Amino acid sequence: MGQRIFSRKIRENESEVLFVATWLNGIRKVEKSECSYKQLPIAGHVVNLISLPSLNASEFIEEITTNLFYKLEQYMQLSDSIVYGLTKDTTTSGYMIVVPDEFNSIRNEFFGECKYCRQHNTFFAWCQLCDPWEAAQDWTSGDEYIDECIKKFQLKTTNYEEIIEWIPFDKLQSIKGNQFAAIWSDGIRKVKNDDHLGYIQSRIQFYRVNLMKFDSSRNALDFIKYVSK
Ligand SMILES: [Zn+2]
Repeated sequence: MGQRIFSRKIRENESEVLFVATWLNGIRKVEKSECSYKQLPIAGHVVNLISLPSLNASEFIEEITTNLFYKLEQYMQLSDSIVYGLTKDTTTSGYMIVVPDEFNSIRNEFFGECKYCRQHNTFFAWCQLCDPWEAAQDWTSGDEYIDECIKKFQLKTTNYEEIIEWIPFDKLQSIKGNQFAAIWSDGIRKVKNDDHLGYIQSRIQFYRVNLMKFDSSRNALDFIKYVSK
């Protein structure tokens, strides 16, 4: 399959690893001109790569082919799935299925570049492929139920300024004489328009916030669900 200039690992779970890449040759497109249809590839197209970790060089060639065929067939049977082809990572010798980047149509240079996949963002300082996933990594409230609930919201977020997060209590400085207000040292998320870097993710630190008290974590989560509707 066509050469690619860049690929970056986005996420990994038990069954597959997802990468994003630019396919230099690009996808096949048919263009209609006045009296005929022409083949007109769209070069430099952003695609996703799904690696097949169960396949490795130590397996027999027949086994690799059978596995590859099975995985490919399985993927192609998923509803609405489009497969552009297969490729082989020349550094790891692993095979990968090349599929569309589902956010390709909303990526725009104007929104800035994603710091994870290096493609154009899908909104101001926001990449829908990478940012929700990244927001849900490397933190815990210490309570599995709370973590799961916050992560569900994070994975659905479409805007940097609207991500909810776990805020450790020591990030909130109390305000004397007012137990329902505090200064949040990390502060709220804000998209900044930087003269040199364009739109970037930023925060307004030491921001005054209000605190609402709940009897239990369940009540607090029910409230979050209610206001997030
Ligand atoms: Zn990205």
